[in-house]
Order: sequence, then structure tokens, then C-alpha cells
Amino acid sequence: MTGIVIVGASGRMGRALVEAVIETEGATLVGATVRPESTLSGTDAGELVGKGRMNARVVNSLDAFADRQPVVIDFTTIEATLQHLAWCVSNAVPCVIGTTGFSAQQEAVIQAASEAIPVVYAPNFSVGVNVVFDLLDRAARVFGDSVDIEVLEAHHRHKVDAPSGTALAMGRVVADALDRDLEKVAVYGREGQTGARPREQIGFVTVRAGDVVGEHTVLFAADGERVEITHKASSRRTFANGAVRAAIWASQQNAGLYSMRDVLGL
Ligand code: NAD
Repeated sequence: MTGIVIVGASGRMGRALVEAVIETEGATLVGATVRPESTLSGTDAGELVGKGRMNARVVNSLDAFADRQPVVIDFTTIEATLQHLAWCVSNAVPCVIGTTGFSAQQEAVIQAASEAIPVVYAPNFSVGVNVVFDLLDRAARVFGDSVDIEVLEAHHRHKVDAPSGTALAMGRVVADALDRDLEKVAVYGREGQTGARPREQIGFVTVRAGDVVGEHTVLFAADGERVEITHKASSRRTFANGAVRAAIWASQQNAGLYSMRDVLGL
């Protein structure tokens, strides 16, 4: 049985994660945390998501769980995740990171932490998206330089980073398959007199609206035909279930930096 703590239990993903742990065989909800100033501290995590009392305390510091040696799952904010990651290193417990929007420097901090503990870090924990990564690699290698490639993504109005971590990961898969440097060929939105589109460009289009959970499409467009590979998430539970699966897997691993592809054995 893998003991799991969810940090940021009052968030959109935090609630889905608490539910997922409660409903996953082989996982036990040790407890959950909320921000230091939150009035939810002192409540029960099961009651927080309408599942009844689970004897899983909601507190405002991970320190309350140090003696339980749990796996920590963190879908919060960049600053909070880096603090929680440092706690995981100090307490020698695995960390599953779903937060997105880290800079290259911040990713180097995650990499350094993974020398001491198992870290699973993925921009998208859904099984479907990770299958799509494989399909994109295959499509890009077959089409080569014969098509224009664009990545389109849509998310709910509350999302704070753009393009999504998943869209960037999709762009990176395609760029790597084509031996292109994403930093050089990526274009984030277009306006005004842009001129004709160079073939090597990889364009990103971002939509933020309403309650869209997450949609991604990669276009491979030639003269006369177009292939679109699309993933649509209709529930946050798909990410939460994947993250809980990753936490159970991480509890069996040595220190290292892992992706969801490692968890799925892809
Ligand atoms: P949200 O704003 O609903 O939730 C974030 C929560 O973190 C809030 O409840 C906030 O109170 C809490 N928090 C912040 N600092 C904290 C601290 N120090 N201690 C405890 N809690 C703290 O956001 P969301 O929609 O749930 O998304 C969270 C993150 O997860 C974002 O970066 C988003 O892009 C990412 N995300 C990743 C995936 C994936 O599969 N990797 C899927 C969905 C969302």
C-alpha cells in the first residue's frame, strides 16, 4: 500500500487528486495540505471532496506527515512546488510534480533534486496524451519537411501559463523527430505583416475560454491534405488517475528524474 499526501488539496487538480487516491486500490490517503492562511486546515480530506471522513488530515505544512514517509503529489504553483520538492529531498520521499510553467533554471532545480529522490515530472499525466506523443513522433518522421506543423491548444479561463506545458512538450517531440531546435523555430501567435510561413517554423496557437479542461491538436498540413492528431480531456480525473499511478510506481524506484512515459513503460 502506497501512502500519498496531496498538497494544494483545495485546488481544481488537488480535489481531483484526493478523490483519485481514495478510489485507487493500492493507494492510501495519508493526508493533504492547503496554503498556510487557508481556513480549511484542520478539516478531513475525504469530507473536503464529499467522500466522508477518511482519517486523512488537511493541514498547512507537510511537516505533519514526516514520520509517515509518504509519496507527495504536487499540482500547485511554481513557487510552492519548489518548496515542497525541497521538503521531499530533506525527508527522502518521492515527489510527483504536475505543476507546469517552470523556466529552464527552475527545471534544473528539479533535475538536481532527482539526484537524491525519485521525481516524476510530466506536463501531462493522462495516458492518452502520452500515447499521442508517440503518434506525433511517428507522424513527424514520416512527413519530414513536406508539411507545415502547428500546435493548437485550448484551456479554461483560469489557466495561468501559455502555451500549455503539454503543447510545448508536443512541439518538442516533433522538433526532436525533425532535428530542429524548438527555441529557434517556435512562433507563439502571429499578428500584422508576418510574411510567408517558413517551412521549418512550428506555430503555437493558444485559446483560453470558459471551462475547457484541456484540448490539443497538432496539424501536419501539406498542399492537398492535412492530418490532425487531437487529444481532448473531458475530466481532470484523467490527469489525477495518471498521477496516482505515477506515485505508486515512484515508491518502488531509485532516485532519478522520470516522465509519465517511464511510468507507462512507453
Ligand atoms: P488551482 O489554482 O485550482 O490550484 C492550485 C492550488 O495550489 C490552490 O488551491 C492553491 O491554494 C494551492 N497552493 C498554492 N500554494 C500552496 C502551498 N504553499 N501549500 C499548499 N497549497 C498551495 O490550479 P489547477 O488548475 O489545479 O492547476 C495546478 C497546476 O497543475 C497548474 O500548474 C496546471 O497547469 C497544472 N496541471 C497539470 C496537469 C498535468 O497533467 N501535468 C493537468 C492539469 C493541471
